[in-house]
Amino acid sequence: MKKSVTALVWAIVSTSGHSHDLTALPLGDGKISQSPKVGWIWACHIDPQAGGAQQVGPWINTAKGTYDLTAKAVVPGQVNWPSQFKLSIQNEQRVFSGNDLPSHATGTYPVPSNSDAYRYDRNPNSIKAQTMQVALPLWPTLAAQATCVPGAIGFLLSGSVLFNALDAPGRDAVAHETQDACQGHPQESGVYHYHSLSNCVADKREPNGHSALVGYLLDGFGIYGSYGEKGQALASKDLDECHGHTHTIPWEGKQVAMYHYHATPDFPYTAGCLRGSYKQSDVTTISGPRPQRNMQGPGGRPPEGAAGAPPNGPSGPAGPGGAPPDLNKAASALGISAQKLREALGPPPPDLRAAATKLGISVDALQSALNAAR
Ligand SMILES: [Zn+2]
Ligand SMILES: [Zn+2]
Repeated sequence: MKKSVTALVWAIVSTSGHSHDLTALPLGDGKISQSPKVGWIWACHIDPQAGGAQQVGPWINTAKGTYDLTAKAVVPGQVNWPSQFKLSIQNEQRVFSGNDLPSHATGTYPVPSNSDAYRYDRNPNSIKAQTMQVALPLWPTLAAQATCVPGAIGFLLSGSVLFNALDAPGRDAVAHETQDACQGHPQESGVYHYHSLSNCVADKREPNGHSALVGYLLDGFGIYGSYGEKGQALASKDLDECHGHTHTIPWEGKQVAMYHYHATPDFPYTAGCLRGSYKQSDVTTISGPRPQRNMQGPGGRPPEGAAGAPPNGPSGPAGPGGAPPDLNKAASALGISAQKLREALGPPPPDLRAAATKLGISVDALQSALNAAR
């Protein structure tokens, strides 16, 4: 099995601050919270029925709750792409336009059937050029309250999209999903994306030792590499619940005390929640077009590597006679307002299929949220 280059680099550079043992990184499975929590992820949506890696790889030690990043199967290949990526400033907004193709080479997708990676995750998707344009606030501000993270959360300076730490069914994507040597792979609509900082996006350092900018999240705040103010290697526990902190950084040619996110080698890798506000339409844009099948995850994020996954059909109508679900509770589990959920469900008896379509989520996801709220 190939050793990941990233892993070796991490092992060498993490000599100050926290040293991350890349052979025993904490497995993030189950660290999904319903509110901001350091080291966990507050995800808006997960879909336990969705697809993912078929097999738990031997690099994962479920009993110990760790995984060996250096032993993880890597999708082979060296494919170059006509990347288009432009950042410009228009009307006090940072406008990102591009085709999502990365500025670095990728592995071969679909995953070659003769590769080691194929044994664990037969990701059948191909990388496809997208049309993406989003306008983010140039000077983002903190929202009154943090919010849960959608599936697609921003982009790295390679020009490709950053997803949160979870795979479609809500496991630690970095541990479970096989990725190429740049830690990227395509989902169902061909959107090439990462779940952590790619080692093909250099973690450069400012003169003071702090990491340089590596991307932007959809609330407009920057995301930086894994080194803090004194150049120390950061871990999730050094950061706040959303995986960031505030101190002086260079921003638009000025030195300003400003909130920003950091990437770390440990779960949840990037944002655990979002501190600024973001537009759902931007999530939809960077998630790419909706796949043909009704498999799209609620956060505008289609499931990934879905070969062999059961189709997301309804698992039976909500049983009559049970206690009525608490719509506030169900809505908060889905990351939407109770009002929106009520509107989608319409007058009783609710048509779950129609409601799920209206909300852009699977029937299963809706049903399990309703069941859990009884
Ligand atoms: Zn993924
Ligand atoms: Zn910082």
